[in-house]
Amino acid sequence: GRARARARATEAAVTRDGVTLAVGANVGSVEDARAAAAGGADLAGLIRTEFLFLGRASAPGVDEQEAVYRELAGALGGRRLTIRTLDVGGDKPLPYARAEPETNPFLGVRGIRHSLAHPRLFADQLLAIVRVARDVPVSVMFPMISTVDEVVAARRMLDDAVRRGGAGAPPGLEAGIMMEVPAAALKAAVLAPYVDFFSVGTNDLTQYALAAERGNAAVASLADGLDPGVLRLIDAICRGAGERVTVSVCGELAADEAAVPVLAGLGVRELSVAPPAVPAVKQAVRALDLGRAAGVAARSLSVESARAVRALVADRPQATP
Ligand code: PEP
Ligand code: MG
Repeated sequence: GRARARARATEAAVTRDGVTLAVGANVGSVEDARAAAAGGADLAGLIRTEFLFLGRASAPGVDEQEAVYRELAGALGGRRLTIRTLDVGGDKPLPYARAEPETNPFLGVRGIRHSLAHPRLFADQLLAIVRVARDVPVSVMFPMISTVDEVVAARRMLDDAVRRGGAGAPPGLEAGIMMEVPAAALKAAVLAPYVDFFSVGTNDLTQYALAAERGNAAVASLADGLDPGVLRLIDAICRGAGERVTVSVCGELAADEAAVPVLAGLGVRELSVAPPAVPAVKQAVRALDLGRAAGVAARSLSVESARAVRALVADRPQATP
């Protein structure tokens, strides 16, 4: 039960057959970072940096950003910080970053597209991250990647920030991308050589795969991350990643206990969830036999609905026509 989950929260999440999965927390404030550490998270698997940039008249400078990232690092007590670069766009415009109004903001200049269109803003954020990465392990994560060219451009900016920082490459610095655009998922094998990790953003990946806007209640029942079409994309990501590139999931789906065996069975080795969900997700991992999960995951790719996937996980065979 919940009490047992809480008691074991700070222990590693190891499957019955001895494989350790990292369970991280999604962080959108210093408060969240404290909750993540208190709740036993192994790392911050997604730091949404938007909180630093929204609702103000001018951009935070390098020093201010560095101070906040250091505050997050302090609250996380030495755990790895996965810092996602700014993920704003048409639906969350910044008054200090000029942008044309867009009819379809979710298909417009958001995530990495916005950062590459505002190189000074991007360069300052990367410099602040690089400075903090000298003292704590940091993974830089680029959101809304669609193409190899975007990864190359973003990594070039990161290299520039390391040079501008002037103290050599930070020892624990890694760079990876969010996988939330279906075309990127299908190109995982060509993207893999350019990164250290993939992190699947199932909120956006589901939205784009099922053409169902996130947050629109009228289509919410379509936007199920366990839809076999979405699972096929996650399978493509895991296969394309190969042995070297780790795959994590940081969307809401990772906190769905029915999804944990399917994701782990497909090859996901890190889950990042809201801080209060960490203990229960760790328990779900401990309940798992990875061999069986791989079988369930393989079958889930060929069933007809998210409902049928949930039935497979629960071992309730459904009638087939
Ligand atoms: C996602 O898209 O699943 C994700 C984790 O990022 P965000 O919810 O911030 O878009
Ligand atoms: Mg997203």
